[in-house]
This record gives sequence, structure tokens and C-alpha cells, in this order.
Amino acid sequence: MPSKVDVNAWRGVWVFVEQYKGKPARVSFELLGKGRELADKLSVPLTALVLGENVGKLAEDAVASGADRVLLADAPKLSEYTTELYAKIIAEAALREKPEILLVGASPVGRDLAPTLSYRLSGGCTADCTSLDVDLDKRLLVSTRPAFGGNVMATIICPDHRPQMSTVRPGVMPLPEPDPARKGEIVKLPVDLSSVTPKVRVLESRLRESEGGNICEAEKVVGIGMGAGSKAGFDAIRELAKLLDAEVAGTRPAVEAGWISHDCQVGQTGKTIRPSLYVACGISGTVQHTAGMSGAKTIVAINKDPNADIFKFADYGIVGDAAKIVPKIIERLKSEKG
Ligand code: FAD
Repeated sequence: MPSKVDVNAWRGVWVFVEQYKGKPARVSFELLGKGRELADKLSVPLTALVLGENVGKLAEDAVASGADRVLLADAPKLSEYTTELYAKIIAEAALREKPEILLVGASPVGRDLAPTLSYRLSGGCTADCTSLDVDLDKRLLVSTRPAFGGNVMATIICPDHRPQMSTVRPGVMPLPEPDPARKGEIVKLPVDLSSVTPKVRVLESRLRESEGGNICEAEKVVGIGMGAGSKAGFDAIRELAKLLDAEVAGTRPAVEAGWISHDCQVGQTGKTIRPSLYVACGISGTVQHTAGMSGAKTIVAINKDPNADIFKFADYGIVGDAAKIVPKIIERLKSEKG
């Protein structure tokens, strides 16, 4: 890595728009919202990077969600994400155009792509951030992320290298409201991959079936805490989730007890979610849990302790035994559904 670069030669904010079979990762659009804010503060354009096959519509959606410009690489060879091809195209474009900031979602793909890019571009990458801002005087990206198992929040800057890169956890930033009338430039990137003999060939790709589906993308989530703790209690909560068309998530102790998989843990050391509805069943409401769900639009809490902290976050609180209340809600929902 060079000891320093001419940081003034790098300008602009870029966001990588991840997609799977044309469906964008929600986190990429959350980042377009944040990228727009940072670009406005720095008075520079916001550029979206869209790679894939038949992804022209995604480029238009990126403009509607805040991009001034889209760099579009559309080719059959890009239909599946592979590190080598995606990193080659993005790194070449970045070396040519020199963005000062490059944001990537902290998804499995993003966690693979971002460090590869940061190595190729000799930039600095802060992984798994929960908040981003800029220090305008120094034109520095200020990235915050939990450290030491979530016990402290670290603020990280990259003063001497460009681009400044961050991966950002899904769900921590709000989705921008798309404006279909927004205008932006869509620039086709040259896709010359003839010199690349990929070391990896994707033979087949399938979405992993996890117990909790994708809680970050879910509109409704039912959360399990230690107060819901019995086999009958879980069965009822799962039934409730099914009736609500919701995913099941929960607290760290619920994961440690083996009741739900780690994929479904919400909180500081789990996932951050922003569903329209979160139903917290037997959850006390510690800061480590609420850090991951307080952005939900409507929170319903069921807890037998009227002083439980979760009620400070809840829009609707039900004081009582979850084992009795959940079946009653199920009964009511069933009768309403006919
Ligand atoms: P408890 O705190 O035991 O609460 C159970 C609640 O259920 C109580 O409020 C009780 O009144 C209620 N209850 C009991 N019986 C009933 C009943 N029959 N009906 C209704 N209510 C009932 N936690 C996370 O969730 N996510 C994280 O990412 C996370 N990261 C952490 C990181 C660090 C570094 C540390 C130290 C901790 C972390 N934790 C995390 C753990 C966190 O501090 C809490 O211990 C945890 O969130 C509490 O889980 P809980 O609410 O399920 O259990």
C-alpha cells in the first residue's frame, strides 16, 4: 500500500447496488439514501454501480432512489456474482474515476467484494458499520461500528488513502422514498472480460433456506425472548408468525438456548431490522436487543412485567403471560380471517 495518496484527486460518492437475479438487496437502496446525504454534504455526485445481466431496470430504480449517475455493466457473464469479475470491473472503474467514498452492503456478497476492492484500490475499508457521516473540514468519511463484542462503539477514519470504503449492516439506515420523476445519467461500462480466466465457475446458485427467512427484508417479524420459553410457547409464536405472514426472530439468549438460529438474532451482535411490525414476545428490552429493532414502524410488546424496558419502545403493550396471550391473539386472527 502506498504510504499516502493525493486525496484531493478523489471526488464523488459511489454505492454498489447488489442484486440476485435482478432483485436488489434492500441494503443497497438503504445505502443510496445515505450516499445521497453524504454526497449532498460534500457537494459531489452520487454514483450507483449496477452489475449483472438484464439489470437496466435496476439502474433506473437507483436513479429514482437518489443516484445522479449509474455505471452499468450488463453482460451474461455477470449474471451470477463472482469476486474476480465484479472486483475487476469495479476496481478498473474506480481507478479511472477516483471516487472518494465507496459504500457496500455488509451482506455475504458485500463482505466478500469490499475487502477485495479495498486491497486492489489500496483504500481503507471499515467493515460492518452501523452509522456513517462526513467530517466536512477534512472531507473524511466517519464510520462507526460496534467493537469488542459490542461493548464499545468505534469511530474509524481513513485520512491518507482513497477510496474510503465502508460496508454497512442491512437495516440500520432507512430506505429512501423513490421518486420515479428523478433524472440521472446511465453510463454503460465496457465489459471486456476476455483476458480473465475465472478461477471460480458458478455451476448453480440457490437461496439458502434459513429458519427465519430473511428477517432484514421482512415486513413483519415476531420476536422470541426468554419469557416465551417453552415448546408450547414457541409453537404458538410460530403459528402467530404464520398467520401474520411474519418471520420469526429473537434475542441472543434465545439463540444461545438453541430455540432459534443465529441467523435470526436481532440486536447489537445480531441483525438490525426495520419491519413495519415487530411483535416482541417475552423480551425484556435491553439496549443490546433494542439496538436492532427500535427502527420498526410499529412495536407490540407482550411481557408479564409491567416495568419491562421493552414497553418504553412499544406502541402497544400487553401486560401478561405470553403463553396465554399469544393463543388468544391467534384465535382472534383466525376468526377475523374467517
Ligand atoms: P431476559 O432478559 O431474561 O427477559 C425475559 C423477559 O421475559 C423479562 O422481561 C420477563 O419479564 C419476561 N417474561 C418472563 N416470563 C414471561 C411470560 N410467561 N410471559 C411474558 N413475559 C415473560 N441480546 C440480543 O437480543 N441481541 C444481541 O445482539 C445481543 N448482543 C449482546 C452483546 C453483548 C456484548 C452483551 C453483553 C449482551 C448482548 N445481548 C444481546 C444480551 C442482552 O444483554 C440481554 O441479555 C438479552 O437481550 C435479553 O434477552 P431476553 O429479553 O430474551 O431475556
